[in-house]
Amino acid sequence: MSCEPDGRDLGMNRRILRRDFLNGVAIGVGATAVGLQVRAGAAQVPGSGSTAETFPPRRLGLRGEYELAVQPLVAIERGTYGSFPGIDVETNETYDLVIVGGGLSGLSAAYFWQKALGTDQRVLVLDNHDDFGGHAKRNEFAHNGRTFISYGGTMGISTPYPYSYMAKSLVAELGVDVRRNQEFLNRDLFQKFELAPATFFDKEHFGEDRLVVGTGRLPWPEFFAKAPLTETARRDLVRIYGKNPDYMAGMSIEEKTSALARTSYQDYLLRYAKMSSEALPYFLGQGGRNNKRVDTTPALEAAERGSVGFDGLGLTFEKQFSQGSYVFHFPDGNASIARLLVTRLVPGAIPGKHDMSTIVQAPVFYDRLDDAASSVRIRLDSSVVRVAHEGPATQPTGVRVAYLRGGRMHAVRGRNVVLACFNSIIPRLAPELPDTQKQALAYAVKVPMLYTNVLLRRWAPFKALGVASVSSPGMYYPNCSIDPGSTVGGYRGLTTPDEPAVVHMVRNPNKPGLPRKEQNRAGQQELLSMKFSDFELSVRRQLARTLAGTDFDPAADIVGIAANRWPHGYAYTYDTLGDPDVPPEARPHVIGRQRYGWITIANSDAGAGAFTNQAFDEAHRAVQELLVARGLA
Ligand SMILES: Cc1cc2nc3c(=O)[nH]c(=O)nc-3n(C[C@H](O)[C@H](O)[C@H](O)COP(=O)(O)OP(=O)(O)OC[C@H]3O[C@@H](n4cnc5c(N)ncnc54)[C@H](O)[C@@H]3O)c2cc1C
Repeated sequence: MSCEPDGRDLGMNRRILRRDFLNGVAIGVGATAVGLQVRAGAAQVPGSGSTAETFPPRRLGLRGEYELAVQPLVAIERGTYGSFPGIDVETNETYDLVIVGGGLSGLSAAYFWQKALGTDQRVLVLDNHDDFGGHAKRNEFAHNGRTFISYGGTMGISTPYPYSYMAKSLVAELGVDVRRNQEFLNRDLFQKFELAPATFFDKEHFGEDRLVVGTGRLPWPEFFAKAPLTETARRDLVRIYGKNPDYMAGMSIEEKTSALARTSYQDYLLRYAKMSSEALPYFLGQGGRNNKRVDTTPALEAAERGSVGFDGLGLTFEKQFSQGSYVFHFPDGNASIARLLVTRLVPGAIPGKHDMSTIVQAPVFYDRLDDAASSVRIRLDSSVVRVAHEGPATQPTGVRVAYLRGGRMHAVRGRNVVLACFNSIIPRLAPELPDTQKQALAYAVKVPMLYTNVLLRRWAPFKALGVASVSSPGMYYPNCSIDPGSTVGGYRGLTTPDEPAVVHMVRNPNKPGLPRKEQNRAGQQELLSMKFSDFELSVRRQLARTLAGTDFDPAADIVGIAANRWPHGYAYTYDTLGDPDVPPEARPHVIGRQRYGWITIANSDAGAGAFTNQAFDEAHRAVQELLVARGLA
């Protein structure tokens, strides 16, 4: 039994809904109990095989880039496959198009290809996971005869950049009407129970554990008065969160803008706003776009985003693009978008005609994804290790693709190949690429992320505290919130506090003080080095402390955990602190995504943007490049 120093049992020995798979065999704590739970909930997924064995979204425990999926990628990144490997299984299959990566970019590339050339075109999608969708990952908990669905990655359609005509058309063709999003949100729940955002001040950073309810709702002086802060920190925070003087007085607007672009938000607060370092812990866990933190967000970006401390500078910014109406959230996030794509690509795997109103509960027959009778086949658990042109170097006939599946090396042929995987891995998959292109592809470092979903037996402890979400600046998970569940597609969101709920906990591992790319690398290593039990302990400890003073019992109330770790998370985006200021066409992602023979490059990395519309746009471009090169466009 694992106890805290105060003797409290956190429940590490409890059987919960988690089931890791190793070589296709279930392992891990609670397998027996889970088996019972899964069977009890089996009828919830209509028609489809719905146990964890046949239905990957029900596999819990360590998800996202789980061990078996990520191991081959780590080996590829280490350079294990310098030369084309010996083949154990010659499939003798040839496809018009082979796509590496079954995320939204890879799936939409298959869709765009067939749309251009017809549905008799033979396409193979290879992905290293046991589920399709990449970051668009669904987690399902079956508990007491009910199914709870949540998102383990890509949460929804939302964008700080406009969706292109192509991306919008695709969303519409998939039967999603984003204008109806408001109908399905379950936000009234929070109003009905008067739940507010809160901040948890931890003793390691603030001297004592204390939850203060009303972040952003209470007047700031009142809020900070309730927080465990030194007098100096409180005075500075009240000042910075209030009306600020011009901390850069004497500088012209141009000088201010230029200095802010080269200064981190942290340095701005300390050096220009003269905030005491005693107040800095409050800003831990806060940051800018793409998970930049207070020390890696350029102050100019923070100012543009309306962060505190800049209102006295006299700066005005062009109105930022806002497309609030172009937003949509399914209970499983964009996993339902991936499902909708699959209905169009492999209709046998998700039978019937589906759109936004039916897809969430549609049965998925995973065993039909790779059906020889289907013109598009999706082959999961397949890690591509090498691609190489065949035929004369000046006029290659196609591309040979080697992939590991079930521990054996397989080979297929593609007349064309789209690499819809990660930029950082492409130089290893295709070492024949020109050196400048390989260097450009290796430039970016993806942002590591952890989305942990925790099923609680009841969410009454949150109700008792009056909170729906908690920001915990110094804790392992800086953000934690109740997932109200959207009600689209017949799925039922939360209604009463005595029913179970998924709590969504987010961490962006980093190492403050290092340059941003180094922080990303350190965060990737952190995630890769952790076992499920490490994630579980962090969840139990944090919830026990956050919900202290209520009747929350971590041992009994936590009934399921899915820790979705993403060492290869968001695509890297440029910023004025860490990246040179070069013309758009000289950016590494542009140099890196050039067509090479019959190989083109999709995926959101190729757009240097961590959004679904970029995944679609890059897929469309990659397909277009092949069509143009083949004289088909
Ligand atoms: C936690 C998280 C939350 C996000 N939330 C949002 C959001 O709310 N809205 C939004 O617009 N965007 C969000 N994003 C950004 C997201 O990355 C994009 O929206 C989009 O899903 C990316 O699709 P992709 O196909 O380019 O990449 P991926 O989804 O990463 O797909 C690439 C696939 O290729 C596979 N692969 C890699 N190498 C190989 C290989 N050698 N062989 C076989 N397969 C391989 C990968 O494992 C993966 O399955 C989020 C990302 C993360 C990580």
